[in-house]
Parts: sequence; structure tokens; C-alpha cells
Amino acid sequence: MIQLSKEADIDGQRLLQLDKAHIWHPYTQMKTAGPARLICRGQGALLFDENDQAYIDAVSSWWVTIHGHAHPYLAKKIYEQLGTLEHVIFAGFTHQPAIDLAHRLLKHLPENQNRLFFSDNGSTAVEVGLKMAIQYFYNRGNRGRRKIIAFEHAYHGDTFGAMSAGGASVFNAPFEEMLFEVIHLPVPVKGREQEVLSKLEQALASGEVCAFVFEPLVLGAGGMMMYEADVLDRMIALCREKGSLCIADEVMTGFGRTGRLFASNYLEHKPDIICLSKGLTGGVLPMALTTCTEAIYEAFLSEDATKTFFHGHSFTGNPIGCAAALASLDLLERPEFSKRIAFIEQEHQAFAATLADHPMIADLRQRGTILALELQTGQQTSYLNNIRSFLSNFFYERHIILRPLGNVLYIMPPYVIEVEQLHEVYGAVREALAILKEKAGL
Ligand code: PMP
Repeated sequence: MIQLSKEADIDGQRLLQLDKAHIWHPYTQMKTAGPARLICRGQGALLFDENDQAYIDAVSSWWVTIHGHAHPYLAKKIYEQLGTLEHVIFAGFTHQPAIDLAHRLLKHLPENQNRLFFSDNGSTAVEVGLKMAIQYFYNRGNRGRRKIIAFEHAYHGDTFGAMSAGGASVFNAPFEEMLFEVIHLPVPVKGREQEVLSKLEQALASGEVCAFVFEPLVLGAGGMMMYEADVLDRMIALCREKGSLCIADEVMTGFGRTGRLFASNYLEHKPDIICLSKGLTGGVLPMALTTCTEAIYEAFLSEDATKTFFHGHSFTGNPIGCAAALASLDLLERPEFSKRIAFIEQEHQAFAATLADHPMIADLRQRGTILALELQTGQQTSYLNNIRSFLSNFFYERHIILRPLGNVLYIMPPYVIEVEQLHEVYGAVREALAILKEKAGL
């Protein structure tokens, strides 16, 4: 197997110059951002720079790396697949890794799910979900149901449909008038449940709502906002009663993040459509799935070719991605997996308990392996809150990768993180809070 040598002669300065000359990084103001940080290899929860200095990846590299970096088992399975079949067009063709993945994954998904549609990333998984829902009604001759309901503060991705469903934010402001109309409801956080339920009821009354799309239990990029399964269950039940579909965007919550394999597993009423990506391949390769019920699938079956779902990407169902996803499932199905998740959950809870009365914390939230601290800054909670870059740099200097969402600092580690590593992260968070407290003169 190919190994990147630790001693590889890496000219970090030169590489960074080349990066600066030609690469445009995501979510980065290239004028003011410092040089990108060079990472040369990874192992477990650690990433190593050009000087082989280790950094704890406490955000699982944008929430994808669930089994840790450069996992040998995932690497082996991917390598085996690479030498067998790397890709084949998926329209009219199929292959065993996709078929195996479909069958294995369905055993873990809510019982009402029966069909899988492949794409490449979280945004496309959501686009597919929205298009499926809209065309479901269209194919059934109901052209009046085209409205989408979503949450304020939702984040569903950066393509146009996903941006439309997302809450209005600095991310999608330049495109605002080009986005399709979506009814946005407040997030049903503690104390707002009744208000949201009645707003949902009002929105559904017209009979024009096609689907309600939501991040179940945790809204990720919107600031790790959390709400309970009970109110979501009632929202899904209302949608069902009024004939609208429900789309769970489990791109972030999927594959154990919330404590169970899927956040939908906390629900009594199951979504009609589920979007998956990020942890699907163990966070190794870009792949996504939009799963749905047989009833939705059946609305596309017809002698009339215009009822076809005309959607597909070049890399649909890529066999290497499927092999990675199968290997990731092997790991997730091991008994150690749920123990690891429970361990992180308990550690987070114990740490959170020590911060309960901290004057710098406006709110403390935890669900499964996600711990979020909303910081008291005197400024409004927003992605551009300037505490963000101060904290990212502070943690990086301490060899920890944490990227707050504005003033929401969160820890979302790979499940393989070791206890000492987790405590190192907590220690740095405590230190950061002490500095912020001093700065604030509290
Ligand atoms: N949905 C959710 C809930 C997400 O958190 C994200 C990514 N952060 C997306 C969709 C979009 O996924 P991607 O970045 O892979 O397009």
C-alpha cells in the first residue's frame, strides 16, 4: 500500500506560496485571511503539519471524519476497490458495492425508507430531496403543491435549491432575490414549541405545501441550535395530516453524531425523504444519498417518459465511494462504536457541568458527540462575529483545530478521539474562556 513517508521532504514555504498564487479556498476572505495551514498527514484524531507537529482535529474536518484520519481499514478497502472497478456510468449500469450498500444501509434507516438515490455531497443530497418532493406532486397531477417550509437559521448547502431552503444569512445574501420562496419557521427551541407548531399549522392550511425540510434535532451551521424530538414528531405528524412530505437533512446528524446512528431514530413519525453525506463514507470520499419511501418512488413510475427523475451526476454511485461507505458501516456495526459515542457523550456532559455558571457562556448545548458553547460577547450571534478568528487562532496555537461559528464554539470530534486528547481540548476551551472573561473585565 502507498504510504506517505513521515520524512518526506516537504518544502512547506514553497507549497504555501503556490497555494497563495492559485488556490481559492472555501468560506475564506482571501484578502484578509492568513496563509492556509499546510497539513501533510493524518492519523486518528490528529493532523500533522509540514514539521510533523500534531493538531487535534476537534471538528472532524468539517464534520466528516468519524473514524479518524487515514484509517487503515478504510484505506485497505478503498485500495482494493480501486484495483477492481473505479467507476462506471450509473444510468443503465450497476455494481455490487452500490447494491450491497443499499441493502446494508436500509437495515439501519427508518423502516419506511426503501430507495436510494446517489449523488456527490450534502448540497446535492438536499437538491435531490427537494426535486423529488416537488416532482412527486407534479407527476401525480398536483401542480398546486410547490411550496417549501424550512427553519430560520437552517443550513442545507450552497447550491441554489439548498440556499433557498436555508435561512437568510450572510452566506446567501448576494443571491437573495434569485432564490425561490420558502416559508421559514422559527426553530422550536425550548419555550417556542407551541408558537412554531401553530405557525406550521397556518403555513400548511393553504394545501400548497409540498415539503418541510429540516435538520433533525441539531441545526449545524446555523449555530448548533438544538431542539427536541418530541416537537419535531408533532411537526411531522401535522405535515402528514395535511398531505405534505417531510425531508430530514441528516447530512450532519447522520452516522452517530447525535448519539444514535441517525437523528431520525429518535422520532416516532419518520421522514419521507432522508439526505445523507459527510460521515457516509467515513468522511473519506465525497458521496451522498437521498433515500425515500416506496410511495415516492412509485410516483415516478410511468409509461410516460416525462415522469422520469431527470437528475444525475457524473460520479453517481461511484464504486470507490460505495466501498468506503461499506467499510465505514463495518466499523459502525462493531460494538465498540456505540461505546465510543457514549464515552464522548459522557465526557461532554461532565465537562459541560463544570461550565454551567461560567459568566462567558450564554448557553450550553449538548447532543450526542456535539457540545456547543454560545459565548457571551455583547454582540449578536452571527457567523461574522469577530470572536471567531481570535478563537480559531488561539486554539491553533495550542495545536487544536476548532472553528467557532461566530460566537458559537463547538466540539465535534472524530469518534476515535482519545480521552487525553479530549481533555486537552476541554483544557484549551477553559483557558480561552478565562482569557475572554478577563478581557470582558468580569
Ligand atoms: N446539510 C447540512 C445539515 C450540512 O451541515 C451541510 C454541510 N455543512 C450540507 C447540507 C451541505 O453539505 P456539503 O457541504 O457536502 O455540500
